[in-house]
Amino acid sequence: MIKRFFELQEKVLGYYSDANTELLKKAYSVAADAHINQRRASNEPYIIHPLAVAAMLADMKLDEISIAAGLLHDVVEDSDYTIDKIKDLFGDEIADLVWGVTKISKISEVDTEDAKAETLKKMIIAMTNDVRVILIKLADRYHNICTLDALDEEKQKRIAKETLEIYAPIAYRLGMGKIKTELEDIAFRYAYPEEYKKLEKSIKSKKKWATAKFEKLKEEIKEILDKYHIPGEIHYRIKREISIYRKLKRQNINFDQVYDLLALRVVTDTIENCYALMGEVHQRWPHIPARFRDFIANQKSNGYQSIHTTIITPEGIKFEIQIRTHDMHKIAEQGIAAHWKYKESISFIEDDLRLQWFRDMIETHKENPSPKDFLSLVKGDLTPNEIFVFTPKGKVINLKVGATPIDFAYAIHSEVGEQCQGAIVNEHLVPLRTQLNSGDVIEILTSKNAHPSLDWLKWVVTNRARKKIMAYIQKREHTEYYEKGKRLWTKILREYKKKHNLRFTDDEVNQRIRNVYCTDVESFLRALGSSNRVLDKRALKRLFPEAEVLELKPIKKPQKKSSQFYKLVNVDGYNDIDVSFAKCCSPIKGERIAGYVTQKRGLVIHKEDCPNIRNVIESRLYKVGWNDIWDYPYRVKYDLVVHDKPGLLSAISGVTAKYDSNIVKVETEKISQTISKIKLVFEVKDINQLNKITAEFNHIKGLYSMDRKRVVN
Ligand code: MN
Repeated sequence: MIKRFFELQEKVLGYYSDANTELLKKAYSVAADAHINQRRASNEPYIIHPLAVAAMLADMKLDEISIAAGLLHDVVEDSDYTIDKIKDLFGDEIADLVWGVTKISKISEVDTEDAKAETLKKMIIAMTNDVRVILIKLADRYHNICTLDALDEEKQKRIAKETLEIYAPIAYRLGMGKIKTELEDIAFRYAYPEEYKKLEKSIKSKKKWATAKFEKLKEEIKEILDKYHIPGEIHYRIKREISIYRKLKRQNINFDQVYDLLALRVVTDTIENCYALMGEVHQRWPHIPARFRDFIANQKSNGYQSIHTTIITPEGIKFEIQIRTHDMHKIAEQGIAAHWKYKESISFIEDDLRLQWFRDMIETHKENPSPKDFLSLVKGDLTPNEIFVFTPKGKVINLKVGATPIDFAYAIHSEVGEQCQGAIVNEHLVPLRTQLNSGDVIEILTSKNAHPSLDWLKWVVTNRARKKIMAYIQKREHTEYYEKGKRLWTKILREYKKKHNLRFTDDEVNQRIRNVYCTDVESFLRALGSSNRVLDKRALKRLFPEAEVLELKPIKKPQKKSSQFYKLVNVDGYNDIDVSFAKCCSPIKGERIAGYVTQKRGLVIHKEDCPNIRNVIESRLYKVGWNDIWDYPYRVKYDLVVHDKPGLLSAISGVTAKYDSNIVKVETEKISQTISKIKLVFEVKDINQLNKITAEFNHIKGLYSMDRKRVVN
């Protein structure tokens, strides 16, 4: 640990011989002066701390501005120096960094979820302005956690947990694997001392055994490397305590059941050699396919690249083997700081995809004001169960496991999400609810007429998409309720005024609404439209005390005429039951069906596999069959996605004509320059006829997909 300024200076000169040492010296003397009478909890002189922080920044080979700011980072917080004074002495850039760090420190004292979320948010905002603020903060936290021993237990725990929940995830997101690992390892010891001790003991008991196995495998891998002239360094380690702890908790198992305790890493020179070695390893030992991950072809969103594979030796021991190049290793350890070129402007780093991730977080958060949600958002998106998919141009998009084209569309741009209406995955048109897999190439079809629907919420898994869809639906409901409320109100008001011979102008009425309900007219109408407010006679009397009270009749729904559908089906044990066809699945003759008894509509006929009857009570389901005697022109509706070209429509109508089916309706809608959607409604008498027609549709060139839609028979 560096204890004196000249050591720091030498460190900086070591990687940048032209460094402005005057600036560093000045920063050091101001810091030394500011903290002159202060001591750390360990009773060491306080200046030890900023020196250690600056030294860590020098280890990251940062510029002298960052290092000076590192030396000064606690000055404004802990001494009489003001930020203006720092600005006078060192200029805007350093002052901004110091101020950024100070702002973050001020709020991290409270141990509530809200406070944590707030800290996190401020950090992320500060960071996207200038990532150096966070690098200083991470160095600060690292030194603080290394010196936790001097604090009381309660403080140790608080700081350690905050480190695990906020600082380590941020380091992970920035791809700084080394500092993330170190922060976690030390913090875990203080945050969960009992668990740590237990695991440490368990690991110790395995150490001798593990080392022997490691050495044996290392030799065997060395043989492979030599045989194929692949250069490579081999390292191995037992899984870290905190990783085991998380695994035990997640899978509810005990230590002896953790099978991937042993990990071995080979660092080589080129990507070709990574794959060559992987091939040889897979030749020699069986591997577990489910545990194979190619993060070289599919980079993680934090920039991490490596091949992970788990092999099983003849003794039945499982090893995780990681294979990567030196460059990848450097990036895995240093992340965003890996490519830092001394003296180069920091602007080149602003496009870094790791920072982009944080910017997206903030943008998402704009529509989501609760800090608690924000925290879970960040934590939620931090779990590394990601898939990697591609745009048609080859850009990698990271999504959560289970993501659908809708998630993908929103990840591209919210506008693409809002207008997405179809997706081509690996050159096949698929429904929007299709789950994506790593490696998929996805093209989103958009249309100005497409809009998010409630269904989408069931299909998306990313927070970003969910928030955007909710926001859209809320906004739409807002307008809908308003329109509905306005219609309702106009009608009620007109009748009421007529009946009571009232002569108020609209302005006068609105004034009364504002006075009586203490709200603006728009909210009043919205509440009316959403049925949150009911206008009964008492309410009207409050608005118009001069009118006589009269009874408002409830608006009656027209009675549905009873249908002839009962003829079409046979219901076990019933002759005259009221029958209708379910709108959700619109079954047609010949399809397997079941009847479901409802109070209002009698027996409703669903397709047997309709999801809407899957969970209903057995006793309300009836066996139903088709009545062969009666025919009925069942309507079916198909959405056909087609490549626009002349003759396509006539090909389609040719097929329906061939099988004696009437087309009831055709609508065409452009999806893109060359792709259109045809909404087709036609009549069939049974499923056989329909099957023949659709089979022939399938042979029409330029028809990408068909999707049967519901239609009311
Ligand atoms: Mn500090």
